[in-house]
Amino acid sequence: MRQLASVQRIVDIQPIPNADKIECATVLGWKCVVRKGEFKTGDLVLYIEPDSLLPFNPWTGEQLGDKPLRLKTVRMKGQVSQGLVLGLSLPQLAPANGQPEGTDVSDLLGIKKYEPPPLPAALAGIARGVFPSFLVKTDETRIQAFPGVITRHADKSFAVTEKLDGSSTSYYWHDIRGDGTYTFGACSRNLDLEPGDSAQWVVAANLGVREALTKEQVDNGRNLALQGELVGPNIQSNKLGLPSVTWYAFNAFDIAQRKFLSHGEFIEWTEKNNIPHVPVIDANFSLQEQNVDSLVRFVTRKSLLNPQVWIEGGVFRPLVEERDPDLGRLSFKAINPEFLLKYGE
Ligand code: ATP
Ligand code: MN
Repeated sequence: MRQLASVQRIVDIQPIPNADKIECATVLGWKCVVRKGEFKTGDLVLYIEPDSLLPFNPWTGEQLGDKPLRLKTVRMKGQVSQGLVLGLSLPQLAPANGQPEGTDVSDLLGIKKYEPPPLPAALAGIARGVFPSFLVKTDETRIQAFPGVITRHADKSFAVTEKLDGSSTSYYWHDIRGDGTYTFGACSRNLDLEPGDSAQWVVAANLGVREALTKEQVDNGRNLALQGELVGPNIQSNKLGLPSVTWYAFNAFDIAQRKFLSHGEFIEWTEKNNIPHVPVIDANFSLQEQNVDSLVRFVTRKSLLNPQVWIEGGVFRPLVEERDPDLGRLSFKAINPEFLLKYGE
């Protein structure tokens, strides 16, 4: 769960070249522009992440009713600024008084997360059930929220894949009742979808996903799920400008073992079975000497699917699957600020 608003400490304050009224504060791994002199390093503050919907005006306290304020990524005097740093004086924060760094105050402030528009009904499909419990829902944590992850895993090699801005779609081939009969399924991010002419089912048929999963079970006795991103016209504005709806895998999950295949096994499996996978930006990337800023710079680049447009970001995973105390599965995203600025996010 994302902590949208929390009590945090200012890690650093730096001047912004050619700016005399503002400066740049670091909170966790986020960079946020503040009024010059208002805060100093070490101050406890309220930090509110981008994508938050604020039910009040943070400067006047005015209630905004059903028109909440959405915090977006902005650029001031050349400095990218994400989120909001405020003092701890808001009256709603009184119950959190004296609470330590890291305390989540989103509920106290009535802050909710902005959600992008859902798939248009024509593409969405109809549910036959909730998201299956034998799968794991897809999600990636922003590296800014847990910058300590970088130093903790600095000795490992990572694969960086392009984060595609579409709609999460999972396919499975599984003996659900344990009686030897297998079911093929297609799921959106939160639902198991009725077979039919939804984009998820049509794309699976076009790409031969069911055949590939069946073959794996028959030949190797392994029942897999493939998770990936559905992209194309009418999905998240099709920022990649793709000509038709398609799908790129980013996970292969061994359902019986409840284990993800390693990056290498995943790439090999998809390529052998002619299943498209997300573009690999770097197959052997070291976190040594890296920090949040350098990772963000690394993902400030154009798409491998369409060199004309910015990528949304990159997803970083170790070559050998690994757990992390903050993240669970060691896997995180860095988002390209140019993408956020261009699309007003
Ligand atoms: P947040 O968690 O930041 O509030 P969110 O939950 O909407 O936002 P996304 O920004 O959509 O999450 O990031 C996670 C999603 O990215 C995954 O659920 C997956 O569908 C998608 N994704 C796209 N490309 C990749 C990739 N290369 N590797 C892994 N996931 C990817
Ligand atoms: Mn998420």
